[in-house]
Amino acid sequence: MSADYDLVVLGGGPGGYAAALYAASAGLTVALVESASVGGTCLHRGCIPAKALLHAAEVYRTVSAAAEHGVRIVGDAQPDWPAANARRSRIVDQLHKGLSGLLKRRKVTVVAGFGTLTSDGAVSVGGDTLRGRAVILCTGSAPRSIPGIDVDGTTVVTSDHSTNSDADRLPERVAVIGGGVIGAEFTSVYTDLGVATTLLEALPHGVLPVGPDRDCADVLARSLRRRGAAIHPEARVGTPERTSNGIVVPFETPDGSDKLEVDQVLVAIGRRPVTEGMGLAEAGVRVDRAGFVEVDTTTMATSRPGVYAVGDCVATPGLAHVAYAEAVVAVESVLGESPPPVDYGKVPWVVYTHPEVAWSGLSEAEARAGGYDVEVHKHTMAGNGRAMILGETDGLVKVVAQKDGPVLGVHVVGPWASELVHEGYLAVNWEALPGDVGRLVHAHPSLSEAIGETMITFSGRSLHG
Ligand code: NAD
Repeated sequence: MSADYDLVVLGGGPGGYAAALYAASAGLTVALVESASVGGTCLHRGCIPAKALLHAAEVYRTVSAAAEHGVRIVGDAQPDWPAANARRSRIVDQLHKGLSGLLKRRKVTVVAGFGTLTSDGAVSVGGDTLRGRAVILCTGSAPRSIPGIDVDGTTVVTSDHSTNSDADRLPERVAVIGGGVIGAEFTSVYTDLGVATTLLEALPHGVLPVGPDRDCADVLARSLRRRGAAIHPEARVGTPERTSNGIVVPFETPDGSDKLEVDQVLVAIGRRPVTEGMGLAEAGVRVDRAGFVEVDTTTMATSRPGVYAVGDCVATPGLAHVAYAEAVVAVESVLGESPPPVDYGKVPWVVYTHPEVAWSGLSEAEARAGGYDVEVHKHTMAGNGRAMILGETDGLVKVVAQKDGPVLGVHVVGPWASELVHEGYLAVNWEALPGDVGRLVHAHPSLSEAIGETMITFSGRSLHG
């Protein structure tokens, strides 16, 4: 069978379904090819299930501290791992149903199967040929593994497994390899649920060594350590050995060699693009040495005219919301419009650990390295009334600005940093002056006041800071 569409989208994760929905809303006929389930990594093995588990950990932490808030719990609160996973699963199912329904209502034709690009620029799926005026590749990414460490899904796992556990209880001891976003989030979940968790990170800073401002990442690292996580920076991990009691992980740090016996190893050392076996090279779509599809980020066009690529299969930040934004750019390019490209240096980043870490724009170190004459002010959550009421005063706001100039970066660690960051995101993207943001009235008592207070400090005066 052969069918014609305005647009054929290959891959149904956030990049793919956003491209399909947005194109359909603009009146295009769209086919969306997906080999597993629409929703992709984010919905089924990533953002959504991980955040559901983080929330279970938060509820447990909150309930365990209930007495402090004047609520007496009779008996002990206990984590119920199967119940937490059942809830996680229900949320994923509900969102999956919602997304499938939305695609149907927009009249997107969802084609089940593994699609490949043919040399004439069509998409072949299980013997059928789908032809589009344009094709958008949204084939995503998969966890990277470490040579010599075999991922079996039970003793050695990746986030694909940790977000889909059907175990009847939590592992008692976990080693997390890699202290990036996934490693930090799972260290937070496991530590709060009472798992003895050890984080082994290759780089000099053990937690979020790349990305956030150091001051914010350090607040998270201190909090995780205080709650019981063991964190080893500059760790070189050897080949783990399975034993009758679990798995032994040898590692070296500047302090010497050590080993650790655990029940489970979570490998969280980054993700690789999924672009093999889809006929890309044969179709004239250039792929770089790491496997990322090469694109012109002003249009998301690949080297083959009419073929675009967005999301984790291109070498831009691996974030679902970046994939959404790239999908809009790609669809508008297909429509012959001239969309503003995504400003990758200013997108919001959120790490949903406890405490949350979020930022937009340049860290202090990046701004200095970029040659800016930098002015920096910070405001801790310790004196913030709302944070005190929540019992979560571990945190700070840090604003990096050009001296007598606009805001370059806003960094937040603490309660609801994931939501607070968006005020910072607007300030960074509108190149607001700190004094102008400081003049805006922030509600009292609110966590947002910490941002307002930090901005006011740039005037040389302050309220409570
Ligand atoms: P990452 O790149 O964020 O972190 C990987 C970490 O592993 C790095 O710090 C690296 O130095 C370390 N590492 C690499 N090899 C190692 C080794 N052999 N031993 C010890 N440490 C080693 O990757 P990730 O945490 O796996 O996340 C993958 C992707 O998913 C990222 O693009 C991330 O942005 C995305 N993601 C985002 C969120 C979010 O936005 N909240 C959540 C989860 C994942």
